[in-house]
Amino acid sequence: MGNEELEKMITHLRFAGYLTSKDIETAMLLVDRRFFVPEKLKQSAYDDCALPVGYGQTISAPNVVAFMLEKLGVKKGMSVLEIGTGSGYNTALLAEIVGLKGKVTSIEVVQELSKLANENIKKSGKNYKNIFLIVSDGSEGYLPNAPYDAIVVTAAMPWLDENHHLIKQLKPNGKLIAPVGDRYFQNLILYNKNIGTFEKVLPVIFVPLLGKYGFKRE
Ligand code: SAH
Repeated sequence: MGNEELEKMITHLRFAGYLTSKDIETAMLLVDRRFFVPEKLKQSAYDDCALPVGYGQTISAPNVVAFMLEKLGVKKGMSVLEIGTGSGYNTALLAEIVGLKGKVTSIEVVQELSKLANENIKKSGKNYKNIFLIVSDGSEGYLPNAPYDAIVVTAAMPWLDENHHLIKQLKPNGKLIAPVGDRYFQNLILYNKNIGTFEKVLPVIFVPLLGKYGFKRE
């Protein structure tokens, strides 16, 4: 295991068309996914699939992670809100991309997962000064650090329209990407506030967003 396998994963993502920009590709090389999967699943760290991370939650497949970052157009200096910290993998990628002039606010509702994400991020070898991990109900967004250039929701949302409160937390030219649908099947929706469009970009399956504006616990 090592960088050769990580490089193979990235080459696959590039050839399959999920990775298109240099900045996001570089971030995926710098943030080793091995540190974000449980010990017993390390041999699958570079497989292009979702993996369980405990508490019934998953780390998303690399192709979905890359695709969402590309569609959002995350760039150096941006302030980004992530809803659903999970393993912290996407959080670390965002931190690499936005750099020290940018800021990543990531909300997780399961306290233990936020703690695990913090440990994973540390283990991955960097002391990111631009990450703010919050334990709270992310379905409400996070007003203290708003407005954001970009919002990425990594859990399934039951609805999204121009009246959604998350949209109010975006800058006028901000973008939001989220899986929207029912508990078992969703479409990734890309919202562009500048032109007011909702674009269906990919069919996906994410774990449900809980909380006030999410799904009710079963
Ligand atoms: N981005 C993650 C994938 C997270 S899976 C990664 O790279 O690993 C979705 C996460 O959303 C889970 O950790 C789940 O606990 C969290 N979640 C569900 N409902 C939430 C809510 N209302 N607020 C914040 N996080 C929530």
